[in-house]
Amino acid sequence: MSNKLERQKLTLPAGHDKLLLHSCCAPCSGEVMETLIESGIDFSIFFYNPNIHPVKEYEIRKEENIRFAEKHNIPFIDCDYDTDNWFARAKGMENEPEKGIRCTMCFDMRFERTALYAAENGFSLISSSLGISRWKDMKQINDCGHRSASHYEGITYWDYNWRKNGGAVRMLEISKKEEFYQQEYCGCVYSLRDTNRWRMSQGRDRIKLGVKFYSNAMDDES
Ligand code: SF4
Repeated sequence: MSNKLERQKLTLPAGHDKLLLHSCCAPCSGEVMETLIESGIDFSIFFYNPNIHPVKEYEIRKEENIRFAEKHNIPFIDCDYDTDNWFARAKGMENEPEKGIRCTMCFDMRFERTALYAAENGFSLISSSLGISRWKDMKQINDCGHRSASHYEGITYWDYNWRKNGGAVRMLEISKKEEFYQQEYCGCVYSLRDTNRWRMSQGRDRIKLGVKFYSNAMDDES
């Protein structure tokens, strides 16, 4: 399968010379990273995802992302796995649906830490790979990104739509080429619970952590 659209060379918004890219996982950030590399943009990966549960899943997703960053010599900032903080903030939202207020809290928390790191380490521009997934509400993500950046003077959230110009298609192609780990739920314990409930209602098995990887033999199912 070939790319349906050529990648366009990107330039950073005026006034910025480098980017701190929050990454949620290798499959989502792969296309974003390759686009930035091909565009000659200076960037670092910021991995802050204390939502991911359990720790085994967290480690697999993180290691996949490190593997790809090392392959391209991209700096990888491995931030805290402060799950107590995440669970404290999620209290009372355990039964919220995906794309609801728990997810707004979750994006806010991850972007606030990204913006803080940016402010303390000489970055003026932040963005995230989260919005490339078709399972996500891009407006919700962008609103959280802009809100987090607004808490720090001189920090801007870049709400570039990574899905466009074939980005969503190439995201899947890269995942297959790199044989990335294929996570089967968003990340938190509640999304794992709800995905398993849905699967069981469909007569399917529960999710088995750490076993599914993208491959070139796959159909375009994701
Ligand atoms: S479903 Fe995903 S975005 Fe929403 S709270 Fe859970 S991990 Fe965060």
